[in-house]
Amino acid sequence: MGFNILYVAAEAEPYVKVGGLGDVAGALPKAIRECGMSLHGQNGVDIRLVLPYHHAIKKKNFSTKYLGEFPIPKTDQAITCQVYQAVNNGLKVYFLDGEPIDKKSPVYSLDPIHDGQKFTFFSLASLHLPDFLDWPVDILHGNDWHTAVAIYALRTHQIRSRKISKAKTVHTLHNLPFMGTDIGQVLSEYGIQPVEDEQLPAWARKLPLPLGLLHADKIVAVSPNYAKEIFTPQFGCGLDTFLNTRKHVITGIINGLDYKQWDPATDPEISQNFSIENLEDRSKNKRVLQKDFNLKVNKDTPLLTIISRMDAQKGFDIAIKGLGYLQNESWQAVFLGTGDPIIEGMTRGLEAKFPDRVRSLIKFDSTLARQLYASTDIFMMPSRYEPCGLSQMIAMRYGCVPIARATGGLVNTIKHVSKSVSSGTGFLFHQPYPSAFSRILSRALHLYLKPQQWRQIQINGMKMDFSWETSAQKYIDVYQELLSSET
Ligand code: ADP
Repeated sequence: MGFNILYVAAEAEPYVKVGGLGDVAGALPKAIRECGMSLHGQNGVDIRLVLPYHHAIKKKNFSTKYLGEFPIPKTDQAITCQVYQAVNNGLKVYFLDGEPIDKKSPVYSLDPIHDGQKFTFFSLASLHLPDFLDWPVDILHGNDWHTAVAIYALRTHQIRSRKISKAKTVHTLHNLPFMGTDIGQVLSEYGIQPVEDEQLPAWARKLPLPLGLLHADKIVAVSPNYAKEIFTPQFGCGLDTFLNTRKHVITGIINGLDYKQWDPATDPEISQNFSIENLEDRSKNKRVLQKDFNLKVNKDTPLLTIISRMDAQKGFDIAIKGLGYLQNESWQAVFLGTGDPIIEGMTRGLEAKFPDRVRSLIKFDSTLARQLYASTDIFMMPSRYEPCGLSQMIAMRYGCVPIARATGGLVNTIKHVSKSVSSGTGFLFHQPYPSAFSRILSRALHLYLKPQQWRQIQINGMKMDFSWETSAQKYIDVYQELLSSET
């Protein structure tokens, strides 16, 4: 039996990407569609992606077709939502536009009120889309706080949209701490009542993400380990007691990686393509990078990197202090990221302290990111929490060995190199402290001096299977389980 899924997200590749959500929403619907076709034939699983028509997407001039418009009721006056359609490898994609979205602001602005209005409008407009398309929806699939209001409004029967009214709901939790801003006022402007449920702590009752989590038929965390961590005070962000009441609907499915997008054998952005068969060629990329960044060209000096949003979550401070403890060891490091000005300053500070071996690149640069994955030896990921993490998977696929904190999805994706390197793919440390980081890094630096063993670790990582197929199948199982249940 086939079924229809409305997949709503704030960002998705190739249209717009700010972080890991963009990778996932760009790849998962395609993978579900393909998996569904192999299970149920051509019209098996009809999954369609819905995105806000962000200014950043419009600027890229993708070919889209204007389908029409519909009103979103509001107490003072209705707001018009315009619908555009694109097709990406057979996947139907809808862009929703309207006054709260059509501003020249970034995908996520620094103004939480503006973002609250934009994503509330987008979430509610998504619920009206199936009637506009005359397309019945069996599953509404939301992601993070931006689209959680769609689930709340649907499940509390506050939106009259016939074609989606009976849909089951799935919400994927990529990042619990980002719950959105107080949208109480915005909801009442759209005629939507606040929550009365006492299961939710009072402070969370007007925040989009908790509202969605309260009502979703199934909550999927982006790794099995994160799905367990969120029940604890350390990772539950004040919602752990509430989440424990929803334990029966929570599961974890690890994110995959788009293996066509991320392939060192064909990646056009890197100087030298390589695979396990000609892994020795990889060092040519390192030479180019060292030259480009005016670092001493030496293939025996371990080259380290972090490519990430500069946010406290990512533990830049842990790595920076930890590297400071290892001044007497041989290493070079390149940091690529943007975000918190304090962290940007810290990486610049490290470059000032070690001008001959550190480079701090404060920007978002997808091409450079690929070159770093393909040339550096060690990927540092000392995250304080990490729901899934994609960078470590990309790093392993590109023969760059991760050193990561044992948290969230990092535990599910990295096999720690124990005494024997036979199956290890990287290094895990437990305490989020520079001392713990530097101890494990020191161990890795010493193993780097044993080329055969190091090569084995690289190969183990390159052989890991993080393709989306397995995860897409698990999501289809979740949908089918919901559709076959009575309630
Ligand atoms: P998160 O989603 O928490 O930001 P992930 O590890 O899940 O972290 O995904 C981050 C993605 O964003 C990876 O594909 C990474 O390569 C990319 N990325 C992060 N910062 C940059 C940057 N400054 N330039 C290019 N790519 C970046």
